[in-house]
Amino acid sequence: MSLQPAPETGAVHRAGRVALVGRPNVGKSTLLNRLVGSRISITSGRPQTTRQRVTGIVTRADAQIVFVDTPGFQREHQSALNRAMNRGVAAGLQDVDAVVWLVEALKYDRRDEVVADLLAGNAPVILAINKTDAVRDRKLLLPFIARLSGLRKFEAIIPVSAEKGWQLTELLDAIVPLLPEGPPSYDEDDITTVSERFLAAELLREKLFRLLGDELPYASTVEIDLYKQEGDMRRIHASIVVDKEGQKPIVIGKGGKQLKAIATQARRDMERLFGGKVFLEVWVKVKRGWAESESALKRMGFDI
Ligand code: GDP
Ligand code: MG
Repeated sequence: MSLQPAPETGAVHRAGRVALVGRPNVGKSTLLNRLVGSRISITSGRPQTTRQRVTGIVTRADAQIVFVDTPGFQREHQSALNRAMNRGVAAGLQDVDAVVWLVEALKYDRRDEVVADLLAGNAPVILAINKTDAVRDRKLLLPFIARLSGLRKFEAIIPVSAEKGWQLTELLDAIVPLLPEGPPSYDEDDITTVSERFLAAELLREKLFRLLGDELPYASTVEIDLYKQEGDMRRIHASIVVDKEGQKPIVIGKGGKQLKAIATQARRDMERLFGGKVFLEVWVKVKRGWAESESALKRMGFDI
């Protein structure tokens, strides 16, 4: 049970689900992590880092909000993986009480319009204008906001910086009144509804996005072969799955250096997130056409 203090007499408690949507690279996962205060959703400078829905739970005295981070919607490259990702976006938008649509300050383009088309449902929409820290001439923000305000009905339009944590309380304050009244469903210490096993795979996959060249992150994935709690330690065996034999030496690197860097960084992040020691072993496997293989995608937790 939650140990949070009871709200003031007469104050209502609200609880609900809120989708974070927006074109690739706009900062959805960064925002989720900031709101929750832990790195549960992986991020990188590359688009399409997020492949599956990740939830983050924010608990405050007046409300509990489950945020759903969605992968970027993908129109090109119709692989089974991309189709599954698109279904994930659509499913993430179902059964939510509100939607936070992120756009990047001063940068609204075709990819944002695609997202706008997905927002036809009934849930109220808040527009969050992210990366305002990167705007040099703040005067340009007002006309940009004015232009976007004509796109559809918004409950609120809030400039934020996910990276700097700026205006996030204001964002939460705008969300809470949109949620139905209800008790919290999760413990106040809970930060996500996804499993540690999934988070471990994601943290390892993030290092592929951050440490490997342009093509490889998209041609690879991660499977967890063993996940075992041994006293205070977690023993994790993971495979980095690549598409072609020729990709294997790139992941491993000269004398195993690259693989070692990937595994070490992933292990440190896991230890930080889980708050305990992790023994991580990582192999590299070749599985031709894994992104087209429904059984492989199923094993990664996609709803196929
Ligand atoms: P997603 O694809 O929408 O989930 O985007 P990510 O959260 O992975 O972020 C994409 C890139 O934008 C990363 O390099 C982030 O560091 C960067 N980013 C996210 N939020 C901000 C922000 O508020 N300001 C700046 N300057 N960069 C940001
Ligand atoms: Mg993301």
